[in-house]
Amino acid sequence: MHASGEPEEHPGVFGGKTASSRGMAETATVSAMMGHSHALSGVVGWMAVVPLVQGQEFFGVRFDLGPGEVVAGSLVCAGAALIPDLDHKNATITKTYGLATKALSALFNWLFGGHRNGTHSLLFAALMGAITQALALWSELAVQIFVFLLIGIAFNGLGLGMEKNRVASEIINALLTAGITLALFANGVDYSWMGLAVAFGCLLHFAGDIATRMGVPLLWPLSGYRVGQNIGFDTNGPAERNVVTPLLTVGVVLYSVYLFPWREMLPQV
Ligand SMILES: [Zn+2]
Repeated sequence: MHASGEPEEHPGVFGGKTASSRGMAETATVSAMMGHSHALSGVVGWMAVVPLVQGQEFFGVRFDLGPGEVVAGSLVCAGAALIPDLDHKNATITKTYGLATKALSALFNWLFGGHRNGTHSLLFAALMGAITQALALWSELAVQIFVFLLIGIAFNGLGLGMEKNRVASEIINALLTAGITLALFANGVDYSWMGLAVAFGCLLHFAGDIATRMGVPLLWPLSGYRVGQNIGFDTNGPAERNVVTPLLTVGVVLYSVYLFPWREMLPQV
């Protein structure tokens, strides 16, 4: 469940062959699969905490989430669950906005000491949360733009934009992203939880990496110890493909049925 490009760490993933021995095309597909799991975990993660945080207050943010906030939050969380891999040049998120995300990726890689280092720490999650929360408090327009970008990243991670016809799928992605962002805006979605959702998305990413034998240096830069190294299942192995991804998908469906007031939302017949 991680960006590709580190074949030495997932032996046996491709029946003995490493990602690099199969060439770039295969690598891109693999990275899409794994971005997919991270993004899905963001959607399910947000939906799962909604009933727990509803009506409560955390860090001065009161959670009164309606259907709009549930949708917005799950997409923001899905996008945020891809942010930690921005330090990798082949990750789904890095390729999402061309040069802009590539430049950001190079910057993150340099700032946070290489791949899966500082961007996979609790400090990074807190930092991203604080920055986006500050953005939310500073300007409503800035939040809308940021939400738009994150939803685009989420859709890309979920698999849109990875089809064979790249141009067409990117146009569909852009239209869908713009449409949803506008619909959420028109619904008056409140983004006071923005920072918390982004930090939570990053934490879900770490959980995913830990579950797939990828050690995560949670206490960076204080300690380089990698939590969860060599425990768990193979990245993109049978467990991820046959169990985790379907379970996450079922989770999205079940939570959607459970969380939304369908009776009130659907037109009366
Ligand atoms: Zn990662």
